[in-house]
Amino acid sequence: MTHNQSVDVTDGFHLVIDALKANDIDTIFGLVGIPITDLARLAQAEGLRFIGFRHEQNAGNAAAIAGFITQKPGICLTVSAPGFLNGLTALANATTNCFPMILISGSSEREIVDLQQGDYEEMDQLNAAKPYAKAAYRINKAEDIGIGVARAIRAAVSGRPGGVYLDLPAALLAQTIEAGHAQRSLLKVVDPVPRQLPAPDAVQRALALLKGAKKPLILLGKGAAYAQADDDIRAFVERTGIPYLPMSMAKGLLPDTHAQSASAARSFVLAEADVVVLVGARLNWLLAHGKGKTWGKPKQFVQIDISPTEIDSNVPIAAPLIGDIGSCIAALLGGLDAAGITAPDAEWTGAIAERKETNQAKMAALLDKNPAPMNFHSALRAIRDVLKDHPDINLVNEGANTLDYARSIIDQYQPRKRFDSGTWGIMGIGMGYAIGAAVVSGKPVVAVEGDSAFGFSGMELETICRYQLPVTTIVFNNNGVYRGTDVNPTGGADVAPTVFVKNARYDRMIEAFGGVGYNATTPEELTGALQEAIAAGRPALINAVIDETAGTESGRLTNLNPQSAKKNQ
Ligand code: ADP
Repeated sequence: MTHNQSVDVTDGFHLVIDALKANDIDTIFGLVGIPITDLARLAQAEGLRFIGFRHEQNAGNAAAIAGFITQKPGICLTVSAPGFLNGLTALANATTNCFPMILISGSSEREIVDLQQGDYEEMDQLNAAKPYAKAAYRINKAEDIGIGVARAIRAAVSGRPGGVYLDLPAALLAQTIEAGHAQRSLLKVVDPVPRQLPAPDAVQRALALLKGAKKPLILLGKGAAYAQADDDIRAFVERTGIPYLPMSMAKGLLPDTHAQSASAARSFVLAEADVVVLVGARLNWLLAHGKGKTWGKPKQFVQIDISPTEIDSNVPIAAPLIGDIGSCIAALLGGLDAAGITAPDAEWTGAIAERKETNQAKMAALLDKNPAPMNFHSALRAIRDVLKDHPDINLVNEGANTLDYARSIIDQYQPRKRFDSGTWGIMGIGMGYAIGAAVVSGKPVVAVEGDSAFGFSGMELETICRYQLPVTTIVFNNNGVYRGTDVNPTGGADVAPTVFVKNARYDRMIEAFGGVGYNATTPEELTGALQEAIAAGRPALINAVIDETAGTESGRLTNLNPQSAKKNQ
């Protein structure tokens, strides 16, 4: 026996798994192929959960939403070049949304890639990832795997969370290393999400501004939901008595039925408020950049954010409060009494209540109608009423009109239960988010999808059925993008760019994989199907037949959709 044969060795494959496990990572979302097939196999053999997808973008989206829900980086594993690029879309989306995620991709041999000698799936993945990630690293030596994984984890979750790319060349995975040496190279990250306390003078400045406010407003963003400071946020809202508005993924931090919710008077409070407290919400396009007609009267902002460079991004911020939301809200709560902050004038809250009542009555009248075929409102009324009885259900929502209407019609009752198109306002997150949410929460998911939005990730129905996840997908089928009525003006054989196959039966797709399909043409059928699907806790798809003339182009984003002045000439 030679000396070498008697030495206990391990390799890169095992070390990557050991490094993830040492940091309590228990799930990988991915898609196998060269060079990471054995990594996925071994991960499963070593007790990690491996959820295999049909397209990397969906695996990446699942990892991203898992990160948002758990505050641990969601892991996505892909093959090289095209698989990596598919995953990169999700990584960029995660970074944009401030979700912690790590995209791990196998890559081709460095020496061939760098000399551009034409390797199998040759691509300089590390440099391709950099502009779209919060950080990007490559590990070249097996003994660096522990430190490389630790760096990726810390980068993903500390400060403003985001997407991290970790490049693992094929040669690294097969590298062998003496087992004792390998063991010593592993580490568990200490305090990966360190608290960041706000400066006392910044807290006082914010409290002083609030004290002087006549028409204060609190705006909760998905950063507030992510922070998991739910009790303190609720206490801050309730103790101050200030009306609040949730951004879509902050819905449920306080139940949407809360008396202080100003959602039904959104445009009124945005225009009228004099001091606005932003809690984990950016003044980006979703908030009209904090200026213009939407924001009406002049106002001053308190902004709570972990990222100092977010401050003054669009408009001047009078009282920046830099720190983690939990610490910032706790500091504000601690100072409320001393600052003498009392409930806002009844004139302000009364005016809001009046608006809410009028708007809610208008919405109720719309929801009460029963057109045949169904429109967005009548279908959503049915879904809203069923979900009221299941406050812990996860709701995924994407589409144009389907997103716009569902956001304001379906109430949320618990934090981090609504996952949607997010900061980019994109389509394609649906089945990835649904799978990620089902896997990490262990709770059922209902995905309310426009028919166009569903198309981007629909093949993952097979994944949902394979893992028997309790996901009910509802496809709002109005025969096209926005609606199904456009015609080809030339009279040619091709349908218009926005139109799909008429009267498609999406419910039959899931039947191919053993799931249960429903075709619902009335609110009663939709109610029955959804109740049954939730009770069964098994994969289901409801094809909700919506009037093809219902729906507006680009939903509420018509102003962002340039139209040709010449097209009708
Ligand atoms: P929304 O789209 O709901 O308005 P955004 O994604 O625009 O929300 O804003 C989220 C903000 O929250 C980001 O600016 C991010 O830096 C911040 N953030 C995320 N997590 C935390 C945290 N734990 N503490 C403080 N700020 C956070």
